[in-house]
Amino acid sequence: MRSNRARRRAGIAAAAATACFVALIAAPATDCKPKRGVRTHPPPLEWPGTVEHVVIVSIDGLAADEVDGEFTPVLMKMIAEGASTVAAQTVTPSLTLPAHTSMVTGLTPDHHRIKWNNYRPSLGNLQATTIFDVARDNGFTTAVFAGKDKLKHIFQEDDVDLCFIAQHNDREVMKEAIQHLHTDSPNLMLIHLPDVDRAGHFAGWKSGMQLGVVREADRLVGSLLDAIEVLEMRGKTAVIVTADHGGQGRHHSSNDTDVRTVPWIVWGDSIAHRTLAPVSITATANTALRLLGVEIPEDWAARDEAVSP
Ligand SMILES: [Zn+2]
Repeated sequence: MRSNRARRRAGIAAAAATACFVALIAAPATDCKPKRGVRTHPPPLEWPGTVEHVVIVSIDGLAADEVDGEFTPVLMKMIAEGASTVAAQTVTPSLTLPAHTSMVTGLTPDHHRIKWNNYRPSLGNLQATTIFDVARDNGFTTAVFAGKDKLKHIFQEDDVDLCFIAQHNDREVMKEAIQHLHTDSPNLMLIHLPDVDRAGHFAGWKSGMQLGVVREADRLVGSLLDAIEVLEMRGKTAVIVTADHGGQGRHHSSNDTDVRTVPWIVWGDSIAHRTLAPVSITATANTALRLLGVEIPEDWAARDEAVSP
């Protein structure tokens, strides 16, 4: 499980000229340097519903019961058109860094071993392979746009072709992601919007202030869908929207339903409308690979199953 990453680590020096740059705080967008020469892989045909692009949007801290017609009309539209559950479950501990690691590895924190929740370089980085490693090994281009620097524990500078990871806000993250959707059209993208969680810690989950931030995050997802439409990518793209945890009061460390239950939505022209049985957010990993038509590695038996598109 560690070999791919170990191999990639060994290649850091050789890849230095093209390695992507993990943005420093408030670093300009131009610091994200695309790795050129990685071709867009034509999708194999063995999986029904195969797409060329998968965009995972994680709305940090979005509780399932914050998804409604008043505050999240875009997500409600995606639910009406795509496959979804508003009863998905996060992992334990229900914290940002462990949960995002689970989303992109399909492993629970007991298996991927990242259980802390702040940026502490001395603790080292993820050793397990992620779906971004597997996608790149299969010739797909990858990109991560994230608004919290702790996600650097998951993605180091040589792990993805484009990265933009620092203490950004939602608008900065989405602006960067859409810009690169236009210029590079990565095959696999993670867009992490941090502000709903920040507002929850500041003013409380479901407070008027936090719900206003939920509405803004929903609007930004709408701008992503608009960009996909403008770029005529709709027919070949799947968007997964989920969250790492919800919250209760000003926290999200309890086992309460409001903390553990999050939305999980898969949307795209090739995704049939249906209501899914509740899934774990770990299902995000293998579902994304399957949507791209990447065969799930044989040694991933311990990881959660994909949800069929
Ligand atoms: Zn979080």
